[in-house]
Amino acid sequence: MSNGTDIETFRQEARAWIKANLEPRPKASATGRPDREASTPEDIARARVLQRKLFDSGWAGLSYPAEYGGRGLTALHERVWREEALDYYTPDFGVAGSVTFGAIGRSLVAHCTPEFCRQHIPAILSGDEVWCQFYSEPEAGSDLAGIRTRAVKDGERWIISGSKIWSSGAYLADWAMCLARTDWSVPKHRGLTWFAVPTNAKGVEVRQIRQINGNAEFCEEFLDEVEVTEDDVIGEVNKGWAVTQTMLVYERGAGEMGASMVEPRELAPDLVALARKVGRAEDPAARQAIAKAHINDYAQYHLGHRIADRLRAQATPDPAVAAYGKLASGVLAPIRARLGMEVGGPAALAWAAGDEDGGRPALNYLNGRVTSIAAGTNEMQRNGIGERVLGLPREPSFDTNKPFNEVLGAARNWNSKVG
Ligand SMILES: Cc1cc2nc3c(=O)[nH]c(=O)nc-3n(C[C@H](O)[C@H](O)[C@H](O)COP(=O)(O)OP(=O)(O)OC[C@H]3O[C@@H](n4cnc5c(N)ncnc54)[C@H](O)[C@@H]3O)c2cc1C
Repeated sequence: MSNGTDIETFRQEARAWIKANLEPRPKASATGRPDREASTPEDIARARVLQRKLFDSGWAGLSYPAEYGGRGLTALHERVWREEALDYYTPDFGVAGSVTFGAIGRSLVAHCTPEFCRQHIPAILSGDEVWCQFYSEPEAGSDLAGIRTRAVKDGERWIISGSKIWSSGAYLADWAMCLARTDWSVPKHRGLTWFAVPTNAKGVEVRQIRQINGNAEFCEEFLDEVEVTEDDVIGEVNKGWAVTQTMLVYERGAGEMGASMVEPRELAPDLVALARKVGRAEDPAARQAIAKAHINDYAQYHLGHRIADRLRAQATPDPAVAAYGKLASGVLAPIRARLGMEVGGPAALAWAAGDEDGGRPALNYLNGRVTSIAAGTNEMQRNGIGERVLGLPREPSFDTNKPFNEVLGAARNWNSKVG
């Protein structure tokens, strides 16, 4: 294998390795999305075996640092690999996979000590460690700096207590990146620290949450005096907001800088297949919906590439730039899902028992809101673009500069004061 600096040589080598080592998948399903996301421990076990094969052969973590088991290549190499592997089965860790390799791995490399990285990054790249994120709480989502899970120092240990929610794939993960408050006497952004927490640690309870689409990949967690060590601190104590910024910028698509975008090669193949299935291939309204979806797919792809180019030109990816791509998918995904319902017509609302594909448009419709909320809602992306790119006045805030314990005290007494 070459050192990979030459993209064309790299492409040829990747193509040859993939052809010899990976199993082809049906072309019709090659939309860049897996046919079915991993959701069971057995799925994860299968993904680990395939990931190990990639890792041992030098095809995992292409743009991760070589000293931690990656190849030290560029985002462009990641993209080439993705293009070449599109028609083959690659390791599918489901939602846990995208957060592990995207947001979490990158944040650990950016903020952790070499010892920490040597312990965890090769384990992540080889599939031995699957991670998830414990950051949202029942009372802190968009206002993430308002979390109330606490971590208290006790000698060389930290003791964490609180609860988390909406943690994607936590029931399949080995480790969690957990945000906790470590200083209550300073303003909310300044007293936060991230910790690495094994999901099977004593005191961690992970419960799956059943969703409207029938899946249960979201979890809620209860942390009851969970003990971790100083070595498990991610970044610096009380400087967790810097880690949060890194994590969110990667979660919003800065990770592989465009590598995950797949050019829409054919006219919305999923919708064309649906129109044929329900006998509406000649129906002008269905055809118009398909054309609209195709145009949006292209617009999103090209916007994604422009954003990726901007991000690549920056030493540290700018959250405001990443927000554009996140907002575009948050706006376009629900439209795409609605177009599926329009093409499917009545057949998208009721389908024969046992027809697994029949329910797909309806499920897509229910899932269509995911990207408008996950990793920061559309409104929060608009706020960021408004304030950081357009220079609009900042949103008024009553609590940003107050010590967090005073904010909580004022909130508790709010009714009596007003009354
Ligand atoms: C598919 C998915 C996966 C997720 N995965 C994870 C995960 O792995 N780990 C994890 O910790 N969390 C995860 N989350 C949680 C996610 O980060 C939060 O749902 C999100 O940040 C929004 O927080 P919230 O649900 O508390 O909504 P809220 O913050 O309560 O917002 C409610 C509404 O108010 C609006 N709003 C709030 N504040 C403002 C403001 N300042 N200006 C304008 N509008 C505002 C919001 O846009 C939204 O419409 C996931 C969510 C989804 C949907």
